[in-house]
Amino acid sequence: MSKRVALVTGGNGGIGTSICQQLAGVGYRVVTTCVDPQKEAIASWRAVQRELGYEIHWVACDVSDYGACVSMASELEAEHGKIDVIVNAAGITRDAFLHKMEPESWNAVIDVNLISAFNVTRQFIGSMRTREFGRIINIASVNGQTGQFGQTNYSAAKAGMHGFTMALAKESALKGITVNTISPGYIRTSMTEAIPDKVRAAIVAQIPAGRMGEPGEVARVAVFLASDDSQYINGANIPINGALFCSF
Ligand code: NDP
Repeated sequence: MSKRVALVTGGNGGIGTSICQQLAGVGYRVVTTCVDPQKEAIASWRAVQRELGYEIHWVACDVSDYGACVSMASELEAEHGKIDVIVNAAGITRDAFLHKMEPESWNAVIDVNLISAFNVTRQFIGSMRTREFGRIINIASVNGQTGQFGQTNYSAAKAGMHGFTMALAKESALKGITVNTISPGYIRTSMTEAIPDKVRAAIVAQIPAGRMGEPGEVARVAVFLASDDSQYINGANIPINGALFCSF
């Protein structure tokens, strides 16, 4: 069997980096999107990869832009032939109470966190159906399950991902494709580092596990959902939240 190819959006973020590294570590050819491939962070990230002995491929793409996703897909198909696994992990926050939220903050968060899942997945779902194999993993959030102060935009986008996941799972199951969400709680990345210290301490105080999660704890679940072993898990949501929110 040829190497499976995984596309991870937001692969230079905290969670995305760990997912890329772990997928590469178990033998996938991994491609990630980045908004600005010239970014200094990416150069140092590449150096770390070389030291660790593997390579992550890069493609420039703003995943909130449908046209950019069309171009990205033809570039990837020419270079890698196929995409077997998609991890929709790109995400942003623009927090504000609704009565103070500007339309730009609403739209940007919906575009990057939710519309992007359509923009990216739409490019590859047809060929996955033809090849009768695919794994689609959408990174949602506990705040899409519970709602969160100041995050009507983010909570709506992440809740929307669950509907997208369940509907696409039903459409795709007979074609060997699984579609699942992972809903992380609070994970130690630049996204949560941006939360003011006092607020973060109050959040951690509410987590029964007594700590935030690590990106690797999310990545290990993503690797499992990408594997053949998970083929009967479809349309599911896997929470990773240290018992912050327990649900059936
Ligand atoms: P980071 O801020 O570390 O990473 C976010 C990533 O998204 C970056 O790689 C960024 O790329 C990318 N991105 C942002 N906008 C775009 C865009 N328009 N097109 C392409 N890529 C884009 O966040 P995390 O690693 O913490 O978050 C990863 C995912 O996990 C997100 O979807 C987030 O909502 C979700 N999540 C995170 C939690 C946490 O506690 N950290 C909890 C629950 C869910 P670039 O740097 O190039 O801009």
